[in-house]
Amino acid sequence: MSADESIRPGGSARLAGVGPPGAVGGEAKLEPPNRPGGAAVWSPSVTPPIGVELSEEQALAVAFRHLAEIGFAENMAGHITWQPDGRTEMLVNPWGLWWAELTASDICVVDTDARVIRGRWDVTPAIHIHTELHRARSDARVVVHNHPYYVSLMASLQSPPELVHQTGALFLDDLCFVDTYDGEVDTAARAAELAERIGGANVAILASHGVIAMGRTLAEAVYRSATIERVCKLAYHVMLAGRTPTPMKRSDMAGMQASLIERAADVYWAGAARMTIKTDRQVLD
Ligand SMILES: [Zn+2]
Repeated sequence: MSADESIRPGGSARLAGVGPPGAVGGEAKLEPPNRPGGAAVWSPSVTPPIGVELSEEQALAVAFRHLAEIGFAENMAGHITWQPDGRTEMLVNPWGLWWAELTASDICVVDTDARVIRGRWDVTPAIHIHTELHRARSDARVVVHNHPYYVSLMASLQSPPELVHQTGALFLDDLCFVDTYDGEVDTAARAAELAERIGGANVAILASHGVIAMGRTLAEAVYRSATIERVCKLAYHVMLAGRTPTPMKRSDMAGMQASLIERAADVYWAGAARMTIKTDRQVLD
């Protein structure tokens, strides 16, 4: 696979048979139109709320705890940054605390050049991955980065996950594989280069390293983060099974993608927040 190729169905030899309309097998072939999905088909009249009004710091602390709980965090590595709409500063976790132990009062605030402007702890230069993505992508209000196990496994195999199960539709035309590893991204210049390679994708898997997931909201970014780890775990086990999966139709995946991001992301987040707060209310301190 070439550098930084967006992962589309059919984007690798293992996925032959599914691809952009008219491109299957190199022969002209009409795909059915995309199935509608998401809010265009159905929206709930009511959804279960979090039940607590959360400050930005509290919401972010809950996000760290939840992603740690589901195995997304390699102890204290990685960051979540949140640049709220209309503002330039970013809320972020400090260096040295595990995601599983963060509380709201641990959250720091950095400016666009990664200088700490509020908070009681320090932040590592690796934060440049985030500052430069926020600079390049006005739609990416939340950026999550860590080294979850199954994403890291696929990243180490240089093998981005095949999208062979409906949950993988979330990443249709929205997953970038950065296929070179060149050490720590610890300067703004290196991070800006990485952001350029990622382009408009909301999720990027970094060879031999980990993953970056983005969203317009905290809910979207957390949902994409949790889901890419699950998709990589499933893809790895499909590889172990040693059989060729039956590809999904691109037209079906398009509708499912809309349903996942428009219907599932917010309710996933609300449930994650409820359970996290119930487990340890001190996360809000
Ligand atoms: Zn990293």
